[in-house]
Order: sequence, then structure tokens, then C-alpha cells
Amino acid sequence: MIQEMNDQSIIEPIIERLNRVFEDISGLSGQSMRIMEVCGTHTRAIAKSGIRYLLPQEILLLSGPGCPVCVTPEYYIDIMISIADREDVILVTFGDMMKVQGTCFSLSDKKAQGAQITVVYSPEDALNIAAHHRDKLVVFVAVGFETTAPLIGVTVKQAKAGGLDNLFFLTALKRMEPVIRFILQDERNKINAMICPGHVASITGAEHFRFITEEFGIPAVVCGFESQDIAAGICRLLEQLTGKRDKKFVNLYQRCVTPNGNPIAQQMINEVFDIADGEWRGIGTIRNSALVLNDQYRYLDAVKRFEIKNEQYSSPLNCLCSEILLGLKLPKECRLFGSICTPEHPSGPCMVSSEGACAAHFKFGGDG
Ligand code: SF4
Repeated sequence: MIQEMNDQSIIEPIIERLNRVFEDISGLSGQSMRIMEVCGTHTRAIAKSGIRYLLPQEILLLSGPGCPVCVTPEYYIDIMISIADREDVILVTFGDMMKVQGTCFSLSDKKAQGAQITVVYSPEDALNIAAHHRDKLVVFVAVGFETTAPLIGVTVKQAKAGGLDNLFFLTALKRMEPVIRFILQDERNKINAMICPGHVASITGAEHFRFITEEFGIPAVVCGFESQDIAAGICRLLEQLTGKRDKKFVNLYQRCVTPNGNPIAQQMINEVFDIADGEWRGIGTIRNSALVLNDQYRYLDAVKRFEIKNEQYSSPLNCLCSEILLGLKLPKECRLFGSICTPEHPSGPCMVSSEGACAAHFKFGGDG
């Protein structure tokens, strides 16, 4: 049953199209079709829509590394914790980061032990906190993708312009295109089609993701986040996979995503950040996949300010998050899923954020 289908005039034709496509699935001779989404909001929206219940078993919907919390390495959580341990620091973070485990503790554990950690909804809140606590060093945990980076960039510029010398940024900002290439180049994945990240595309532009079809020869759509958007996107991909349409890259989210994106947001990213190699939790280093403060703003980098050395650790035992993030496993293949590992007591990062694959599957169900 598809939930939240509030406009029948839109959804009914899509369902009819889907049913026609399903008739052709038998032509796949039992071969499975693996469709990956690489945006945490899509992961949640797909699980919530219930569309998995409609799909024949040959169609697998896989979640990629689109949840920022899930891909932030353990050692980075440990860095946050080591900074929060300082009595002269207020650590400022989005709420999603609180429950993610480092090697021993989460930020929630540290807050319970008395560390000064403040949860905010906007990077701008960090400016206010720094302005009102001039006797403290305020460190903002800047985690996210190209969608979040422009807001962080504005905050960095405002900190400099306002002469705030007690605000620093611990950045773990990621770029989507390199990780998609990484996944598609991995022959174990066998991804047949991709749902592109709609939010990131609103910044970068839809054309940013055309390479998926042109270089890797698989169908790809940019689609929105309503149930009917997702159904239409999956329908378009299946029509291409079953030969009803030619394989091509399609932007079905034109109400929010233009071909070339948001030039002001892109400029903000270019003004404040450099591209660097990035570390992805459970995946490893991916070339050119991170955004770091550039020379002009590097003095605001908390790692530099506190002279922290990066030490990398392996993933916790038994957690399949890395395989799940790469589309190699489904959440229910993890033997901890739903028993030892729940949103209340997450063992791995995919169970923490509501955009994590395991948390979305736990909350809304589905065969994945
Ligand atoms: Fe990791 Fe928990 Fe997901 Fe298993 S269920 S892969 S332990 S987050």
C-alpha cells in the first residue's frame, strides 16, 4: 500500500504505468534489478512511502551513502569528543550527531558526563553562541553534503567578517559525485539504475549527474521526495530497464532542480572551501570527495586550532553499515538489526539518523 498519496489524479496514472512495467518484469527471467538512491531524504521517503511492498521481488531498492551521519568516520566522532572534553569549549552540533558512537563514546554519553554540548538547528546559531560566550571557544561540527556546505560557508564568512575569534569549525563535509563514481566503479555492486540526490542536485544542478548515464551506461533520474515523485522516478527507471524507453538521464524534479543549479550557493562553496580527499565511514578514502576550509579560512579549522592528529580506526565488529552503504547488503541481513541494534540503542551509524538505511527500515518496514 502506498501511503501519503494525496493527489489521486497524479498517482493513478503512475500506478497504471508501474503495473504495465511489472508485466514486463517477467521478461527479466528472474534477473534482479538493483536501483540505488544516494540521498538520506530519499532513503527515508522511500521507506515511508511503502513502495517496496508494490515492487516485484526482482526489483531491489538499495540505499547508498547519502546520510551524512552514517558516513562520518569513528575517528571524527572521537575528535569531537576530545574537543568537547575541554572545559574551555562549547561544542555545537546538529542533533543527529549526538547518538553516533565513536570508538568508545557518543556525544550523548559525553553530554551526560557534563561536557558542554549544544544542539542547534542552523549553523547561524553557532554565531550567536560564540557572540554570547566570548570567554569560551565554540566549535561547530559541520557535517553534510553540498546541500549544507553553502550554509556553513555563509557562517564561516560571517564569523570572519564579525571578528569572532572564538568560533571554529570541525568540518566533515562531503561531495556526492566522487562517491557515486566510487560505487559504480565497484564491480561487486552491479547497480542497474540510480535515483540521484535531489537536494544536492538543487545546488549543483541536474547536469552534474548526467555522467551516471553517459559514463556508466545506466538509467538515472533526479526526482523529488513526495511519494508520487518517487513512484514516477522508479517507474521511469523501470521503463528504461525493460526496454520501453531508451536509456537516458532524466530530471523529473524540474520544479526545484535546474540544469545548472544554484550559482549563488555554488559560489559560496567555491569561496570558502577547497576540494580534498575525504574519509567515509566504513568505505575508506575517496579522492576529491571532501570540502575543507581553504587557505583564507583555514585558521578557523578546529583541527588546526587544537592541533589534533587524525588517527583512523576500523568499524565496530558485526555492523554491516559499510556493506549497506555500498549497496552490497540490506539492513535485514545484519543479525543485529532490530534485536541488539535499534534506534533507541544503535550499534552502528545507519541506525542513528532517521535518514540512515537501518533506521528507515526499522521504522517503516519493507523487505529491505
Ligand atoms: Fe550496523 Fe545496526 Fe545496521 Fe546492523 S542494523 S548494519 S549494526 S546500524
